[in-house]
Amino acid sequence: MRQAVEIIERALAQGGRACVTCSFQAEDVALVHLLRGRADVLFLETGYHFPEVLAYRDQIAALFGIKVVNLQAPSPTLHPDTPAECCHQRKVEPLMAGLKDYNVWFTGLRREQSPSRANLQPEEQHRFPNGLALHKVSPLFDWTWVEVHSYLAANDIPELPLYAQGYTSIGCAPCTAKPDPGEHERSGRWGGRKLECGLHTVTVKES
Ligand code: SF4
Repeated sequence: MRQAVEIIERALAQGGRACVTCSFQAEDVALVHLLRGRADVLFLETGYHFPEVLAYRDQIAALFGIKVVNLQAPSPTLHPDTPAECCHQRKVEPLMAGLKDYNVWFTGLRREQSPSRANLQPEEQHRFPNGLALHKVSPLFDWTWVEVHSYLAANDIPELPLYAQGYTSIGCAPCTAKPDPGEHERSGRWGGRKLECGLHTVTVKES
């Protein structure tokens, strides 16, 4: 945990406005707790979340005493049957609009989550297709599933109830299933058709 705190302090010391994107999965909640109100909390309201996620979002906001900024697509019309387009409209476009006033973007990404995140670095510089450049910081990059859940337990932070049902990665309800035994955490997302929604692949990593 000490390394994660050092990464956070180093990023915040550089100045500028900071935010953290939070899906209210366990690692994001741990990160929001570690940040202790020093970054705005952004939530992508896709319109397809499990009701349990929305209730948990409100529970954590009240417990931590934080305001959550809901980023919503202006008039979503696409459907999960076309996941590339749907994710772009419901997630990527609102994120790009929501991040425009920030310099530092904290994420709860972890290397262990999926093969697509295996080379994640704790601090990276990214540029979005609209030209927006951000310092992208992932303080929990090397945390394991056990470490994340131990952190929440040690701090008396309740978990999203869907974990107790066997889910290991939780996004929009139509695109989230439980993983097969022995598969990585995100293997139940999008029926195996893809691993990432686009939030973390639409940018160009510059350093
Ligand atoms: S995860 Fe599914 S429902 Fe959510 S934005 Fe992507 S395709 Fe649409």
